[in-house]
Amino acid sequence: MAGKGFSNRTVFITGAGSGIGYEVALAFAREGADIVATDVEQAGLDSLRQEVEKLGVGYRHALLDVSDQEAFETLVAELDAQGKLPDIAVNNAGIGYLAAFLDTTPEQWRRTLDINVLGVAWGSRAFLRLWQARGIAGHLVNIASAASVTPMPNMAAYAASKYAVEGLCEVLQMELAGTPIRVSCVHPGVINTAIVKHDDRMGFSREQIERMQRHYADQGAHPSVVARDILEGVKSGKSNIFTGPGTGLPPLLKRLLPRGAFRRLLLRAARETGYL
Ligand code: NAD
Repeated sequence: MAGKGFSNRTVFITGAGSGIGYEVALAFAREGADIVATDVEQAGLDSLRQEVEKLGVGYRHALLDVSDQEAFETLVAELDAQGKLPDIAVNNAGIGYLAAFLDTTPEQWRRTLDINVLGVAWGSRAFLRLWQARGIAGHLVNIASAASVTPMPNMAAYAASKYAVEGLCEVLQMELAGTPIRVSCVHPGVINTAIVKHDDRMGFSREQIERMQRHYADQGAHPSVVARDILEGVKSGKSNIFTGPGTGLPPLLKRLLPRGAFRRLLLRAARETGYL
């Protein structure tokens, strides 16, 4: 049975067919929000539809590649024209790419930045323009990563993309200060989702891939933990939402320890978890 905390609100989510995006859609639907779910894959959206519709809230979905700026703008403009402009937008879609710097091809760099950075920029742009034009007190939720605080070796393109999302959020928070629009930057830690199951996105040995996948399966939080923290963060208007294993102590240690000592800790963690 849906709660009432978000009735009269509509949540737009990218990458909603799997993992964190899927659970975010369910969490808001349980609180009474209508859902607009998007992804590049149809299967996850179909299964999400079945679960959300049982909760008695509005649901629609669309295929959307977030790196396609024109398609993003068109979809949001269509929703607006139908009087169904969402007032919470969760820019969640993202991909991982793990390999040594010199083993990461220019193509992999472009794809990672196109989806993880520009996808978030296009979503932020499409919604902010219309919210400002219509006087809507919207809420942007952009998914960065703990990797923008505690990066690991062998994730140059991914870490660069998440530092960029964090920078984008900080700038938007300053530009929008004093307006009714809120921006939350989310930093998930180790979350057990399909993101580490794409072996083709890891330039590692089989042994290393298996070690990393085991680490995520054994130590990773369920993505519903992230969804719960996002929901609470949106309710309380939090600027930064840290969520999941690895997001408590390390950011504090990064502030307190000399940079060399902190890096040694990261390298030790990287050897234990499969990044090295
Ligand atoms: P996931 O692989 O389970 O889900 C990602 C979804 O994004 C998939 O449904 C996929 O089809 C979709 N997607 C991929 N490319 C897309 C594109 N071009 N346009 C639209 N959709 C696209 O992964 P997840 O772990 O749920 O990741 C969600 C977000 O959380 C990502 O931004 C990821 O970087 C971030 N994150 C994840 C973790 C983790 O440990 N899982 C940690 C920190 C941050």
